[in-house]
Amino acid sequence: MANSDLDLLQTALKRRWSRGPSQKAKPYVHAFSAAERRGTKITAKVVGNHGTYTVSIQGDTQGVTSACSCYIGKHGYCHHCEALAITFLADPSAFQAVKRKQVKDVRQLTDVRAYLNSVTLDTLLTQLKAKGITQKAFAEQIGMNTRHLAAIKSSELRHHYFN
Ligand SMILES: [Zn+2]
Repeated sequence: MANSDLDLLQTALKRRWSRGPSQKAKPYVHAFSAAERRGTKITAKVVGNHGTYTVSIQGDTQGVTSACSCYIGKHGYCHHCEALAITFLADPSAFQAVKRKQVKDVRQLTDVRAYLNSVTLDTLLTQLKAKGITQKAFAEQIGMNTRHLAAIKSSELRHHYFN
């Protein structure tokens, strides 16, 4: 299953960045650190002209979505994204594969934290709801006002891509 994620991502990246690196992207190819892959998403850091940028690309059957923390990369497709794609295609094994925690993998207390870090609040609330715990009950449990919880949830969904 992990390999099909890898195939899907590679295919999507090749389709979007089929040519060699542009002049602007060239200096950043193979210059990334903290390179990781979670399923069909890759993230890495690169030192640019104005600091260190976090660059990410997510592949799916429709194509790719990318993002970068540089000033032109907010909606992705900047030269850092291009360089990341080329770096990854050249050597996917240089990206550390991070397994997404599944509920069934949660066995110990430390797993709970890793699991919570890997899901959105929205997913967590959906799962609690399936167990009969409403959003309101959850909010009361943790001593939070339900409107505040709903606001966090929608803000998280808007920014989820950058998590
Ligand atoms: Zn960028």
